[in-house]
Amino acid sequence: MIVYKELKKEILTACFQMKEYRLISLSGGNISVRAEKNRYLVTPSGMNYEDMKEDDIVLVDGDGNLIEGDRRPSSDLAALLYIFKHRPKINAIIHTHQPYATAVGLVADKLPACLVNLIDAVHGDVMVAPWTRSSDIGMGKLCIEYGNEANAIIMKHHGVIGYGESLEEALFSVVYLEEGAKTYCMARMMGTVAELSKKEVMLELSGMEHYGQI
Ligand SMILES: [Zn+2]
Repeated sequence: MIVYKELKKEILTACFQMKEYRLISLSGGNISVRAEKNRYLVTPSGMNYEDMKEDDIVLVDGDGNLIEGDRRPSSDLAALLYIFKHRPKINAIIHTHQPYATAVGLVADKLPACLVNLIDAVHGDVMVAPWTRSSDIGMGKLCIEYGNEANAIIMKHHGVIGYGESLEEALFSVVYLEEGAKTYCMARMMGTVAELSKKEVMLELSGMEHYGQI
């Protein structure tokens, strides 16, 4: 039986896009989606994305029990389920090791919302959570503790967790975060970064209702 065939296809496409935008290498990172109440689709542990098929994506319940699939789910499963449990509006999580955003986390406590594309996609300052070991529920706990209104958080010495109400929103978040982080890194090399005020950030966010197709 193959359930959630379309959703698995969307996840696989998003995996290839993560790779295309250079957010991960080989088998790094993962994608997980809330398929319905107490049912989550998660990419498998330690598989290269180019070898991954729809059926390699596993279905688990909120306690991490395997419902369908032959693969072991991502080793970050406990952290991912913790985030889904504590942020009910989040339906998709993308974890990456994207280099520019991760670099910011090694020198700063946050990536400030200083670029319009970053604000539009991520919605605010992206906070940096302190280090915790990988593949541990602590990653999920720190994301909840340090996360703000933004759609992403940088995990120090590790990578990024981006999320959204949809898979598309989560993907926008991590891709535009990386673009913004790259610009921010270059700006910091040249001098002091000009920041936007809270009021300016709010003004930019209010303009997003005119973006995209109806
Ligand atoms: Zn990782």
